[in-house]
Amino acid sequence: SVARVYQDACAKRSQEYWDYEQGVTVDWGKIDHYEIVNKIGRGKYSEVFRGKSVVNDQYCVIKVLKPVKLKKIYRELKILTNLTGGPNVIGLLDIVQDSGSKIPALIFEEVKNVDFRTLYPKFTLPDLQYYFTQLLVALDYCHSMGIMHRDVKPQNVMIDPVERKLRLIDWGLAEFYHPGVDYNVRVASRYHKGPELLVNLNQYDYSLDLWSVGCMFAAIVFKKEPFFKGSTNPDQLVKIARVLGTNELLAYLRKYGLKLPQEYDNIMKDFPRKNWTEFITPDNNLAQPAVVDLIDKLLRYDHQERLTAQETLAHSFFKTDYKE
Ligand code: ATP
Repeated sequence: SVARVYQDACAKRSQEYWDYEQGVTVDWGKIDHYEIVNKIGRGKYSEVFRGKSVVNDQYCVIKVLKPVKLKKIYRELKILTNLTGGPNVIGLLDIVQDSGSKIPALIFEEVKNVDFRTLYPKFTLPDLQYYFTQLLVALDYCHSMGIMHRDVKPQNVMIDPVERKLRLIDWGLAEFYHPGVDYNVRVASRYHKGPELLVNLNQYDYSLDLWSVGCMFAAIVFKKEPFFKGSTNPDQLVKIARVLGTNELLAYLRKYGLKLPQEYDNIMKDFPRKNWTEFITPDNNLAQPAVVDLIDKLLRYDHQERLTAQETLAHSFFKTDYKE
């Protein structure tokens, strides 16, 4: 299957735009323009520091890549240089290289992020409208540029609530979309993995990111973080089926000529589809009808049925005036 939108986003651009396999040309900056202030995180693929430019005294974030496959490094560099400057995409300020190891370090604008576990529980409906608009604008932009993010989750959405600034970070798993290409299903983080990844459907597309957005949105609205909490990858699909139903899952597989992989033999049961209203507790003032309707249209097994980023932005939820 192919994407419903932006199918030709790469094809209409030059090969240099999307082809990272032969390497990328990098305008290397000077590593001694930056000093490390303190460590802020360590991911699977990097160590991340708060830094400071000695040239202009501005704070920044320094992401030192770990020595992974060169192709993966080229891909992140290519995608970041293509997307930087786009709306709500983390700004790449510089790329430098350690003189010894030759390992690249990416220099980003710093976002004064407040942890989502603190921030999201305080969101009002207007906050939800505002921040999800910002996230969807970033995603519509990268999709229009022929790129799937493939790791949308709260940890990769930096929000500075004082400036009301949102930036989508961590483009390390992002990939160019070409219709008809088989992609690796070992992407995204478990709680935000779309059903296509869990049933080994390789021809997925931008719509994967909208599933992850749906998971984030449902978690906030229903105050259940994460919304689907699988203990393993197979259990993740079980947790999804407990909500969306097993028959509906089988219909999805049938449509794409797939079978439920063997690892589900002993764990997938015949779960009935739940009604979204079952997740609404009496004191929940976020779960308004338009909000629940939006969740319903994002959390679909069938990736082709999910709203696109642009369609989501046009949904009535974003047009409703809720007042603080
Ligand atoms: P992971 O293995 O968790 O996916 P990673 O190695 O791919 O991580 P990033 O996700 O890019 O690295 O960054 C790791 C963490 O560093 C982020 O979750 C965030 O907390 C922090 N961070 C990264 N970039 C910024 C930024 N521009 N501003 C503020 N904090 C940032």
